[in-house]
Amino acid sequence: MLLESAAPGLYCPAGDFFIDPWQPVGRAVITHAHSDHLCRGSRSYLASRESGLILRARLGNEAQIQTLEYGERLDLGGASVSFHPAGHILGSAQVKIEHQGEEWGVSGDYKLDPDPTCRSFEPIRCHTFVTEATFGLPIYRWPAQSEIFATIHRWWQTNNELGKASLLFAYSLGKAQRLLVGLDPSIGPIFTHGAIENFNQLYSASGVLLPTTMPVRAAPNNTNWSKALIVAPPSAQGTPWMRRFGTLSTAFASGWMQIRGTRRRRSIDRGFVLSDHADWPGLLSAVQATGAERVWVTHGYTSVMARWLQEKGLEARPLETHYVGETDESSETVAMSYSETSLPAEEQQP
Ligand SMILES: [Zn+2]
Ligand SMILES: [Zn+2]
Repeated sequence: MLLESAAPGLYCPAGDFFIDPWQPVGRAVITHAHSDHLCRGSRSYLASRESGLILRARLGNEAQIQTLEYGERLDLGGASVSFHPAGHILGSAQVKIEHQGEEWGVSGDYKLDPDPTCRSFEPIRCHTFVTEATFGLPIYRWPAQSEIFATIHRWWQTNNELGKASLLFAYSLGKAQRLLVGLDPSIGPIFTHGAIENFNQLYSASGVLLPTTMPVRAAPNNTNWSKALIVAPPSAQGTPWMRRFGTLSTAFASGWMQIRGTRRRRSIDRGFVLSDHADWPGLLSAVQATGAERVWVTHGYTSVMARWLQEKGLEARPLETHYVGETDESSETVAMSYSETSLPAEEQQP
C-alpha cells in the first residue's frame, strides 16, 4: 500500500512522510491549516504556497516549512507529491502521491461550491482516494449560496430596523473571511472579533481582497451597534465580550445549522446553512470524478458513506482518525463533536 494508517496519522512508507499527523513526526505533509489537521513539533512541514503565511503564524518562526505551488511535484524518497486545490479555505489542498505507476489522492477537507477567498476545488484522477465525510449523510444538501447571503442580509436589515446589533458567529479561519467577502457593506458597518481580525490580516497579506472592517476593540465608545454586523468565533458566545453590543440578535453560519434543533440548543436566534465542506451530492460527485476504484473514508460519517460506496461497487472502507469535528479556530475548543456510532453529537447535547 502506498499509504497506511499509523498511530500518528496516514503514513507513506515509500516517501517516509505523514499526511496531517496529529502527533509530531519527521516530515508532515499538510492539507490545510485548520487545527484538526495541523499539530506543532514536527521536524519539517510541506504544504501549498498559499497556506504558507497561515502555517507560519500557527507553527511559529522556528518551524521548518517548505511550500509548493499547486500542481508542482516534489520527489520524496521514491514517491512524488503534489498539491491540488481543495476549495475549503485559503491554501487548502488535496495531496496527490505517485509511486511506481500507482496514484493516490488524499482530499483533506473540501467543498465544491465557489468561494472567492480560495482556489476552486479541482478533481484529481487517482486509483485510491481518501475522502473526508464531515457531512456524509444524504440529509446534507446545501442551499444556493446567493439564497443564504440574501437571508443573512434580510436578518441584518430587520435588526437595523428593530435597533438590534447583529452578531454572526463563524469559524475564524476560512468561514469568517468567506462571509465577509459575501456581505453587503451598504447595509451597515462590519466589525470583527480579534481572533478573526488576525486571520483577516493573514488573508490580506496572502493577496485575498477583503472588505473594510473594523476590529471591535478599536471601535469608539459611542459606537451605535444597532446598525452593525459583528463577526465573531463561536467561542465568544455567552462571554462578557458580548455585553457591549446592547440589544442584539445572534446567528451562526455553519453546515450544522441544517439539523433541526442545533440552533435552539445553542441558544442562537438564527442559523444559516453555510459550510466549507462538501454536502452529500458534492462528496459523491468528487469521489466519482477521481475515477478511483478504492476509497477510504475519513472525518465524519465514515461508515455510512463507505457502505453507500460499497453498494455502488467500489472497494470502500472507513478509516480511523482522531477526528473531532469542525473546531473553533480561535480557541481550539471543539465546537461540534461527533461520535460515529450514534446520532450527530449536537443532537445529543443538552
Ligand atoms: Zn478544515
Ligand atoms: Zn477537518
